[in-house]
Amino acid sequence: MNHLRGPRSAATRPAATGRRWLVSAAALPLVGAMALLLRPTPEDVPASIDLTPLAVRAGELAEDTGPRSVEVRVSRDDTLDRIFRSVGIDHTTLSELRQLPDVRKALDLLRPGDIITLTHTDGALLSLNRRISNTLTLSVARADDGYAVDYIENPFEVEIGATRARIDSSMFAAGRKAGLGGETIMVLANEIFGWDIDFALDIRRGDEFAVVYQRKFQDGRYVKDGRVLAAEFVNQGRVHRAVWFESTDGSARGYFTPEGRGMRKAFLRAPLDFTRISSGFNPRRLHPISGRVRAHRGVDYAAPTGTPIWAAGDGRVQFAGRKGGYGNTVVIDHGRGITTLYAHMSRIGRASRTGGRVAQGQVIGYVGSTGASTGPHLHYEYLVGGRHKNPATEPLPNTEVPAHLRAEFRAAATTALAQLRLTDRGDGPALASR
Ligand SMILES: [Zn+2]
Repeated sequence: MNHLRGPRSAATRPAATGRRWLVSAAALPLVGAMALLLRPTPEDVPASIDLTPLAVRAGELAEDTGPRSVEVRVSRDDTLDRIFRSVGIDHTTLSELRQLPDVRKALDLLRPGDIITLTHTDGALLSLNRRISNTLTLSVARADDGYAVDYIENPFEVEIGATRARIDSSMFAAGRKAGLGGETIMVLANEIFGWDIDFALDIRRGDEFAVVYQRKFQDGRYVKDGRVLAAEFVNQGRVHRAVWFESTDGSARGYFTPEGRGMRKAFLRAPLDFTRISSGFNPRRLHPISGRVRAHRGVDYAAPTGTPIWAAGDGRVQFAGRKGGYGNTVVIDHGRGITTLYAHMSRIGRASRTGGRVAQGQVIGYVGSTGASTGPHLHYEYLVGGRHKNPATEPLPNTEVPAHLRAEFRAAATTALAQLRLTDRGDGPALASR
């Protein structure tokens, strides 16, 4: 088929820069603790969505009589109808386009920020290009009889990158300096190592990390980072390693230690975005109110009133309400004999209804100072079989690669770890010792 295509210059093509990363704080349970350390540098802040209706970007050709190309960035509540009208395209064109098979859905589902390029001569549409995803563009072009439709695929070329970074000021700065995308740094801090390392308290100058990860290119240009395949973090001399594994049967998927234990634990190390721990686990502490020596069977996290408190793990709410000196309290039963208790809340969260289920990371209440409390803090208890354990040091249960996938896992892990070793220049004593 011979499609007549409207003129397209580089200036009017949809920008191929890919999406800027967005920090989705709500989606990641540990992200809050990272916020201060991993604040993105200005160039990483996602371009804000233009809310002015139909911000038509200057992309128009100079001649008045020839074809004009207009790049439209979709704003909230835009419709294709409005866009066509604002550009001055003949209003019957749209209904004609909507008749075309496979086009209607791709055209009508507009998202703010989408870019549509329209080329027309005096209101007669010559072509329409709409980027549907990073790798797929809908192209509609005037043909001899009506319009011809093409879906143009432009798949990513994926390269494997590897880098090592040493922390001087913050992990974020070190990662950026090593060429990592902001999203990749967040994955390292939250998804991979956040369960074992407390990024708010534990990071030291001289800590190191190494990453093997995908880098995605399009038309020879770097677009974004892909998945982290293997990573290492040396925190105060302690080496943590993780590899990505996705079994061919799809039953196992995620980050695991080289020994096959899941990086993701059944319990969060700390159930809130805390500013500092005011009192650790100390069975012989002097109680601040009674003055008597009374076992302190939990951890106190000092935090401003209203700081969200997260469920440490999946479970069922056993109790939500007032509980003497504990004040507003939530108790979660996690099964396997494990319960967690959260006290002194200013307010109990909506998710915390006795008998209801909560998921790990879900907000169950807010820091306060109700009950016998000297200031706003979360009193957190972790009980196994009814006995209090120190949640800061207790080995937390984690998942394992199932036995029937062990061989497959070992093969994948060996490859990933070999790639990771390539980043080792041997200049870190902690690394040399392993
Ligand atoms: Zn306490």
